[in-house]
Amino acid sequence: MPSVPSALEITQDIVRMDTRNPPGHEIECANYLGDLLSDAGIEVNSYEFADNRTSLVARLKGRGGKPPLCFGGHIDVVPLGTKEWSFDPFGAEIVDGKLYGRGSTDMKAGIAAFVHTALMLAGEGKRGEADIVMAICAGEESGCEGSFYLSDVGALGEAGAVVICEPTSNYPVLGHKGALWLRVETKGVTAHGSMPEHGENAIYKAARSVSKLEDFDFNIAPHDLLGGATLNVGMISGGLNLNSVPDHSEFTIDMRILPGQDRDNVLSGIESYLGADNKVHSLVNVNGVYTPHTDPWVQEVYDVMGGILSERIEPRGAPYFTDASALTPAYGNPPTIILGPGEMKMAHQTDEYCPVAHIEQAAEIYEILARRWCAL
Ligand SMILES: [Zn+2]
Repeated sequence: MPSVPSALEITQDIVRMDTRNPPGHEIECANYLGDLLSDAGIEVNSYEFADNRTSLVARLKGRGGKPPLCFGGHIDVVPLGTKEWSFDPFGAEIVDGKLYGRGSTDMKAGIAAFVHTALMLAGEGKRGEADIVMAICAGEESGCEGSFYLSDVGALGEAGAVVICEPTSNYPVLGHKGALWLRVETKGVTAHGSMPEHGENAIYKAARSVSKLEDFDFNIAPHDLLGGATLNVGMISGGLNLNSVPDHSEFTIDMRILPGQDRDNVLSGIESYLGADNKVHSLVNVNGVYTPHTDPWVQEVYDVMGGILSERIEPRGAPYFTDASALTPAYGNPPTIILGPGEMKMAHQTDEYCPVAHIEQAAEIYEILARRWCAL
């Protein structure tokens, strides 16, 4: 039996692979993880939503007496940003107990921790009561493209509970808002800037829409844990030069909506609020997710985590969205927690790092959750 690489070693190996999205190119990382898993006898299937944009669904088989436990997350990472790094972003260097690199926290350490756990359990050669399914997704940072593709092609099968291994400092988190990202275009008619009466100004139309959006009301009560739905206009552009009437303008809207809020309704609500002069394009459209802390499996996770973290676990939400937006509905909304190594505040930062101790602890936690679920 070959020895199982540690979660730390796997993290270092995959942080060294450049999966910046755009363009993504997750194939090398997916193949590396797929080979590790299939060499250990774990079933691996790969799916490409576009060239070299590879996601995996891996399955450690159990006896099938109960639905599987799913560990999920993404292998793409965000670009490096404009500030210079003090560490090689693809070096996976460890300094003072911190592993530095793009994607170390968000979320290659989380992926590595559950892959390590699966390899170790596979090495024991026993069959648990249930399968362990791993959804290793491409393209999350651009709106869960990989996980929605897995859902669309029916690659996921079933699951009785989901652990999304995004950075939470290994604290169990119960949900997050969804997101609707829109690009809105206004059109006009160009004319010489000295004769605006002959044109139709697209920027004026956009400006009226944007100022109207400041007063937009979702008309929905805030969520107890996650707070209210929000709206922000983040970008605006238009016009070609100073002395012409602009015939085109566009702006973006970032809405964070609540679990259970109907996204199609929100979208059509915005369209009618802005009026026919505004052409609305949907760029990202993902669900919020939330599992109440009273759920029996969540209570079990709380018991485990209270012991490990030596504190009373309180209900918490995450500020970001995750692959749960695609995976949890695809599985018929089983209880879902977000729990993974790395600090939320380090995600997408210059000099991103993950504390090494988090990675080892996450692997221990995933092992306990998997053994309990599968009676292994
Ligand atoms: Zn992430």
